[in-house]
Formats: sequence, C-alpha cells, structure tokens
Amino acid sequence: MTVTGSTSRPPDTQAASPEDTSSGLRPAVRLREVSKIYGSGATAVPALDRIDLEVGARELVCVVGASGCGKSTMLNLIAGLDRPTRGEVEVEGRAGLMFQEAALFPWLTVSRNVELALKLRKVPKAERRERVAQLLETVHLHDFGHKRPHELSGGMRQRVALARAFAQDADVLLMDEPFGALDAMTRDVLHDELETLWLSRELTILFVTHNVREAARLADRIVVLSSRPGQVTAVLDNPIGRPRRIESPEVGQLAADITARLRQEVRRHAQR
Ligand code: ADP
Ligand code: MG
Repeated sequence: MTVTGSTSRPPDTQAASPEDTSSGLRPAVRLREVSKIYGSGATAVPALDRIDLEVGARELVCVVGASGCGKSTMLNLIAGLDRPTRGEVEVEGRAGLMFQEAALFPWLTVSRNVELALKLRKVPKAERRERVAQLLETVHLHDFGHKRPHELSGGMRQRVALARAFAQDADVLLMDEPFGALDAMTRDVLHDELETLWLSRELTILFVTHNVREAARLADRIVVLSSRPGQVTAVLDNPIGRPRRIESPEVGQLAADITARLRQEVRRHAQR
C-alpha cells in the first residue's frame, strides 16, 4: 500500500535495494519526507514535519516523544486512516492497530472478541477455536474465555485486546500507547506477553509511547521525535540483549539517555 500526499515528489527512479533499511532488513514501513498539517490558513496545525523513517520486516521499533508531538498522527498515516499533506507512506502488507482503550465488544465473551478478528479473515471454525485457545494461553487468560469484558480488570481487558491484535495476523502492527493506562506491574507482564507473541511470528511492530523505559525495554530501535511539529531528532539502536527486564540498570541507562535527548528537545522548543 502506498499513500501519497497531494504534493508528493515523483517516485524515485532508482530501485530500492531489498536490504535498504538502517536495520539491514527488508523494509516493512517507509516514510519519505512525510509532513502533516491539520486545517489551513491561520488555524493550521503542523503536526509532523518531513519525517523520514524505515522500519525493517520483523523489527520492533518504538517511537517516543512528548504528548502532542504527532505520534498518533504518524500511526494514523501509516494505518491509512489519514493522508499526509506531503510525502509518501509505504506499508508492505496489511497493517493492524491497537490503542490505549481495549475497545472490546461488551456483549461478546473474551473468546468471541478474539475469534471475531479471525472470523473477519474467514479462518475456518476449527482453526479459529485452536488459535483463540493458543492466544488466550499466551496472554494468561485461558480460564477467562467465557467471561465478558465488564467482568475483567483493565489489565485483563488490554490482554484480550493484545490477543485480538495478534489474531488480525497483520504484517505490521501499529500500537498507540497500548499500555499507557496500566499500572507498572501489569505493564511489565504485558511487555513479556507482547515480546513472546512478537518473537513467535513474522511481524513488524511500530510501538508509540511517551514512556522511555518502556521503549528501552521493548525496542530494537528507538525513534525520538521532537516537540510539535514532530521531527525525527534521533534514532537509537538498542544494544541490550533479550530477554530484558525493565528494572535492569542497562534499561535504566538507555532510558536516561533518551530522556536527556527529549529534555533537550523540550528546552529547545521552549526557546523558540
Ligand atoms: P500525540 O499522539 O503525540 O500526543 P497527536 O498526533 O495526537 O499527538 O497530535 C499532534 C498535534 O496535532 C496536536 O497538537 C493535536 O492537537 C493536533 N491534532 C491531532 N489530530 C487533529 C485533528 N484531527 N485536527 C486538528 N488537529 C489535530
Ligand atoms: Mg497520541
């Protein structure tokens, strides 16, 4: 899928090499000089400014930035829910989404909520049952399949949403602060579950968060955005091996480094 802004430059005549991302992997998502301006004239809001980004197949990339810097805008553009004002967005395969609110169907059981994603993709019934069981096992909800969302805690509901997100079998999963409303302990468990699911499949994840420790815990690479309009100010490789622990000194050190960069950004923004 390619989404092009109205004043996009012509496509590159040079063929891109399949090993073209800075990660050395086949690109799954590519943004070229993507800008987004909401509205026009005196009330125009520039949300993103010339974003260049490549995410390799099977990479887990976190995007961090202050509130309002354009993170959700970026995911919406990649999901094809909105168009860039300028520039080009390319996604290899199908994109799936997960948000901070679980947005489950309240009248469906946990199992049925997850199964629906498979049903929509016309997965046969017997296979659906097996996949639902597997997914609920991974998110530690195998005993809760018959419950309805209102009978679950916030963390459990978000686990169902995680299982459902993986049931979409998307090639690229776009996650917008999915654990932002959870307490630290619950989030920690969901990080493990997300990592397990990601490692078990051919899947690319773009994960947006304002939580720098979360980014250091999860990401292969971390994209640091400036304050609005969002620009890419740094792309950091995460050198820490997996499995990782969010409370480890290495994760803490990387998080401190990201925070220092963000702080610099906020200061620079305040002086403008
Ligand atoms: P983030 O997700 O990083 O908090 P957003 O992408 O939601 O930031 O928003 C970036 C900026 O664009 C904000 O100033 C926000 O108010 C503005 N914005 C977002 N969506 C719209 C919209 N549909 N119309 C006008 N302005 C918007
Ligand atoms: Mg947002």
